[in-house]
Amino acid sequence: MNTTPKTTAPAPVTERPHTTSSTLPTVIVRPGDADRILAGHPWIYSASILRLTAPAADGALVQIKDHRARFLGTGFFNSKSKIQVRVLSEQRIEPNLEFFLERIRAALAIRRKHLPGAASYRVVNAESDFLSGLIVDKYADVLVVQISSLGVDQRKALIVEALQTIFSPRAIVEKSEASFRKFEGMTESNGLLAGALEGPVTIDLNGLQFAVDIQAGHKTGLYLDQQKNYQLVAQYAAGARVLDCFSFLGGFALHCARAGAAHVHGLDQSEEAVAAARVHAARNGLSNKCTFEAANVFDWLKSQTSVKPHEKVIPKFDLIILDPPSFTRTRSAIPDAMRGYKEIHLRAIKLLRPGGLLATFCCSHHVDAVMFESVIMDAAFDARHILRRVASCSQSPDHPILPAIKETEYLKGYLYEIAR
Ligand code: SAH
Repeated sequence: MNTTPKTTAPAPVTERPHTTSSTLPTVIVRPGDADRILAGHPWIYSASILRLTAPAADGALVQIKDHRARFLGTGFFNSKSKIQVRVLSEQRIEPNLEFFLERIRAALAIRRKHLPGAASYRVVNAESDFLSGLIVDKYADVLVVQISSLGVDQRKALIVEALQTIFSPRAIVEKSEASFRKFEGMTESNGLLAGALEGPVTIDLNGLQFAVDIQAGHKTGLYLDQQKNYQLVAQYAAGARVLDCFSFLGGFALHCARAGAAHVHGLDQSEEAVAAARVHAARNGLSNKCTFEAANVFDWLKSQTSVKPHEKVIPKFDLIILDPPSFTRTRSAIPDAMRGYKEIHLRAIKLLRPGGLLATFCCSHHVDAVMFESVIMDAAFDARHILRRVASCSQSPDHPILPAIKETEYLKGYLYEIAR
């Protein structure tokens, strides 16, 4: 029987003995920078650091304190990176197997809660899951790992062990591209980390089958972040003539075809993507409703909307999807990107029938939701149409957004109807 009186305060569980981490090198942050870290932002730039109390090896665990010696957390240090510390915890932790097991299980629980029934999703989304530098995607029974920080890279074996313990996967593949790793002084790293894998992996997304070529595909294989939006957009597809621009493997196209679209035409400049989309259509019994064409979307839309001065564009579609790649990776390229976004929206709006639906997405970090909608409004103005916003959407919940870490939010989407 539990005889503990109810008034007894529980023993503090967060403060473990200081002895373990008091021996860690301490990073002291500048006055004024502690609050951002306390609020949950895990990046500490060199400019925020007052000093280190002892030399720290690159990739090593350090503790973080403010200038008044208030403890702020523990994280991985890397002198070679602009982000010199990536905070792992607001507590004193050991980044051992138990730690990774606990973090990955917590991340998995979020996916099970918000994507019940799904078997393919992003299991770990770096900062969104308090594991800066680590991404893990699950394609059925195959896991794909991307590592972009040195501290995580040095613990790869522990992470592989944790993933094997939790998932018992058929294979674990690493696909760590150079683009992010170079900022941490690392080169690209690809290959099999565990198990065996040959050929594409067949996955089920919302009941449709896709074959994902993990070794050769874009990103880590397929864009899992649109999983929810495929369903949302497909709700409007019954009976519609649909144009899926930047169709890649046919994600939107096939969801719309299954939902009863009259016809779906997909456009992608990659011949390989178009070939894969056709295979997917056949595999899901939807070939009779889908066509895919290898074309540059800008050129294609231009050819469909260029008319002589006295002629009018003939609207041909009831639903147009625009899901382009990011048009800008840098701040300086924003004006060019905005011109690109405006052009495709202007032409797409002209091709929509009265009452037609535009489903449009922007995955650029540098273009926020307000900027994105304003460029769409400019396009609508030029096309002499008024849009009615039917829905706003974002990345699927396996790419969680923590507003305290604004970099975790990147995908914006709007559904508009031609109101006039
Ligand atoms: N809608 C897709 C993801 C699109 S990713 C999905 O849900 O999976 C962006 C795609 O745009 C890539 O497949 C790329 O090949 C294609 N692409 C990039 N620029 C293009 C252009 N100018 N014209 C046509 N396709 C383009």
